[in-house]
Amino acid sequence: MTRTAGRHFLQIPGPTPVPDRVLRAMDCPVIDHRGPAFQVLGRRVLAGIKTVFQTETHAFIFPASGTGAWEAALCNTLSPGDTVLMYETGHFSNLWKTMAERLGLAVRFIETDWRSGIDASAIGAALADDKTHTIKAVCVVHNETSTGTTSSMSDVRKAIDAARHPALLMADCVSSLASIDYRHDEWGVDVAVASSQKGLMLPPGLAFNAVSDKAMAATKTARLPRSYWSWDDQAALNANGYFPYTPATPMLHGLAEAIDILHEEGFPSVFARHKRLAEATRRAVRGWGLEILCRDARFYSPVVTTVLMPGTRGGDAFRELVLERFDMSLGSGLSKLGDKVFRIGHIGDTNELTIVAALAGVEMGLALAGIPHKKGGVDAAMAYLAADAKVPEPQTMLA
Ligand SMILES: *Cc1c(COP(=O)(O)O)cnc(C)c1O
Repeated sequence: MTRTAGRHFLQIPGPTPVPDRVLRAMDCPVIDHRGPAFQVLGRRVLAGIKTVFQTETHAFIFPASGTGAWEAALCNTLSPGDTVLMYETGHFSNLWKTMAERLGLAVRFIETDWRSGIDASAIGAALADDKTHTIKAVCVVHNETSTGTTSSMSDVRKAIDAARHPALLMADCVSSLASIDYRHDEWGVDVAVASSQKGLMLPPGLAFNAVSDKAMAATKTARLPRSYWSWDDQAALNANGYFPYTPATPMLHGLAEAIDILHEEGFPSVFARHKRLAEATRRAVRGWGLEILCRDARFYSPVVTTVLMPGTRGGDAFRELVLERFDMSLGSGLSKLGDKVFRIGHIGDTNELTIVAALAGVEMGLALAGIPHKKGGVDAAMAYLAADAKVPEPQTMLA
């Protein structure tokens, strides 16, 4: 292997670059997870993660990827044959649907073309039609990482309430938590699903649920089989800062540090920074004359931009060239988007200069690959960042 100078640009929408402070916090001897030192750490992260979800009810931490937290959300609250309403925002909503079907749930699916966010009125209409309250949960993706769209969870809550429907609201916040404003209690979400390797700036390996009292009460009647994912088992041991089985101790040291880092910057600044870098990225894409997959500006994602490849050019060959030439990983197209797109991640521990460098890598890659485009995308991004302009209005709908 030859040495590549400098650092790799991990410009995918998760896993995201891990700050040195987090890496150093994880570099420590493994401790007894039943001992007193662990109790201090356990209490610290269990309380800390609630501040990230903006909840005062229940939060659980599993040694798992985000997919595990999806499973925990469903199997703790639902019974075999229950109907759930899901909204197709893209690849991740489809994966969640497949999981629900495998677990023996009936899925009512609102299909879309993957180019926009959630139309809450479609959810409201489906619930209004459901006079017998067959639908037990509404499951939606807050930030759809495959397409680069963010939807309003409070609009979905309002639609459920307007239909006077008792269904639980479940939100996949895997790629939004700690980078896009998410208010679990205020927005009335019952179960949130998240993981460590995106906005939380940690390596992959932890999964999280935030759980309302209503969802916690649903465990009493939920009959889907569960053992590893049991919230009740977690709650019993978490009460004293411990876990029912061996937790991922080094990851929890990293989590404690990451939560401190987020509080030092302050959540309003973290969210504003993501919006600013996203706007700079979109200006670069328009400057190149390329098309953003999300066609409705109200749903633009602050953490990832999915770009359509022009004409018949393949995104995979382009990404390979950028990796080989500039040591930068860009996101691939997921499932049906395949070779037709590439994704620029601007999530986590990222700032003005790293995004400008990443965009420069894209612009140089377009030129080297002979992909038809206009010059000046990076210039447009720099001009925006230098002016420190406010993000245009549509973004504020999500607050
Ligand atoms: C990354 C991601 C997931 C899956 O998480 P894993 O950690 O890979 O299991 C689920 N939903 C969304 C929106 C994601 O971005």
